[in-house]
Amino acid sequence: VNDSAVDSRNEELELVFNTEAIVVRSIAYGENHAIVTLLTPTGKLAALARGAKKPQSRMAAGVQLCVQGIYSVRRRSGMGTLLQVEITNSRRRLREQLELAAYAAYFAELVERAADDAPDGSESLYRLFEGALDRLVEHPEQSSITALMWEAKILLWLGASPDWQRCVRCGRPLAEVATTSTGDLGYSPADGGLVCPACQEPATDGREVLRVPVALARVLHQFSRIPWSQVRSVRLSAASQGILRRILRHQLSEFAGLSLRSQRFLDSLDL
Ligand SMILES: [Zn+2]
Repeated sequence: VNDSAVDSRNEELELVFNTEAIVVRSIAYGENHAIVTLLTPTGKLAALARGAKKPQSRMAAGVQLCVQGIYSVRRRSGMGTLLQVEITNSRRRLREQLELAAYAAYFAELVERAADDAPDGSESLYRLFEGALDRLVEHPEQSSITALMWEAKILLWLGASPDWQRCVRCGRPLAEVATTSTGDLGYSPADGGLVCPACQEPATDGREVLRVPVALARVLHQFSRIPWSQVRSVRLSAASQGILRRILRHQLSEFAGLSLRSQRFLDSLDL
């Protein structure tokens, strides 16, 4: 049978391909199957994993959240079918501790919402997510800080990050403020950015401005821009982490439209 004969019988193109991917969503389908969403270097795609929920299934390990591997997928139109998985990084640790599992679920939900469908996705987003998971595994004691960095980076990637080095109202460099003024900076929830002491008063819209120590402007800038490979140990007080979390979460929900279920679960653990 030559190719053209095959084409005339099957109107739909069937594609079988191998792709590197990380599982960002996995839900049970019926008693035995699973539907996974894979984040690949070219975007996300959904695939049905037949029989993956059976204990003896060779695919069972490969459909767990945050597992990375080479996924073999058959696709006509719409959802694909998972044929085979060769795991390259199981990230077992992320499923063994409740706290890490909660962070991993949050990271995965965030990237799943941010990513475009394959083939229109972005390799840089894929690598950003891979780096976040690796840091979570390698530095479990720093998980809350890694989460702040991940939020800052994804905000920047989504184009929902202000210039953390300038006053969002007057444009003045905030490093200048640090040397000429003793006042704190503020985060304006309405403007979605930091404001210098001069711009905080009088309040223009009646909305509360969150007080932010000057040093945290630099932290926000670095968290959003520094590559994972250059991040070493980070020390940050619980109070500073709390301020950054409020800023980044507000920025995510109001300026990126991302308010997530897994985030609320994470918060309910009160880590
Ligand atoms: Zn200003």
